[in-house]
Amino acid sequence: MGERGSAQIFFALCLTVLLGSVALVTDTGLVLFNKAVVANAADAAALAGVQALPADRDKAIVIAGDYAARNNVENVQVIVSEDKRRIEVHAEHTINLLFARVLGLNTSTAQAHAAARAEPLTGVRGVVPLGLTEQNLIFGENYYLKYAAGDDPEGEYHSGFLGILALQGPGAKLYVEDLKYGFEEITQIGNILNIQTGNISGNTYEGVNYRIGRCTHSPACTPESYAPDCARLVTIPIIRPYADKQVQVVGFAAFFVEAVTGMGNDNNIIGKFVYSTVPGESSPDAPDTGMYVPRLIE
Ligand SMILES: [Zn+2]
Repeated sequence: MGERGSAQIFFALCLTVLLGSVALVTDTGLVLFNKAVVANAADAAALAGVQALPADRDKAIVIAGDYAARNNVENVQVIVSEDKRRIEVHAEHTINLLFARVLGLNTSTAQAHAAARAEPLTGVRGVVPLGLTEQNLIFGENYYLKYAAGDDPEGEYHSGFLGILALQGPGAKLYVEDLKYGFEEITQIGNILNIQTGNISGNTYEGVNYRIGRCTHSPACTPESYAPDCARLVTIPIIRPYADKQVQVVGFAAFFVEAVTGMGNDNNIIGKFVYSTVPGESSPDAPDTGMYVPRLIE
């Protein structure tokens, strides 16, 4: 064996080491990449699914499964907690290895776990200038969001208060503006709000019908099936008496606006209580009044 032969052996050895390194690096990269893909898919699936909670457990499971499947995850397990406020996703994806096959390893498995919960809303933009006295709200029931004179089901605690709040300030002009477009600043649990006395029925008609008219979704939205951004879906502060002509915010509830009826003393706004998930501030310790922010917790 001459110098040339030694060089060939040396070259062959180098090539083996090099190929081994390439195999290691490539397959390691492949595994890491797939682990990241599966982890992201599990997170996205949990966050998408939780938005259907607590209203519809089956829908939450279907949505989470679809999200995972669209991200190439073939083995998915979705669990919704007993109280329907939390969803867990376990996802698995089989990786076909490229180079490690020479070592007898054909596949590897990427696994991920994610959990999300519907956390009670504590602060949000866009509330309408209507306050509902705290009570045990029942899903799917109709409520007066502004009641006719003498019709206050909870008993009037401020003379002349029929459910209207002065958010930007007092007066019918600011009231109808906030009713149409929502109050642009953040309203939070604990805030003290001023009330607005009277029926203001003309502006109430104008504001509510503006919202109903803005639903151009096809098919038209209903309380059972609506677009999440529909103008007929309103966020209402849940309130309790605080001081003279003032109330305190204790939570938020979502309503699908059904109708505005009657003029003057007979003027009502009717809305159906629904569960709603929105972007906003939240806390796991806040009271649960049916509005939530989706949060990834694991
Ligand atoms: Zn709509």
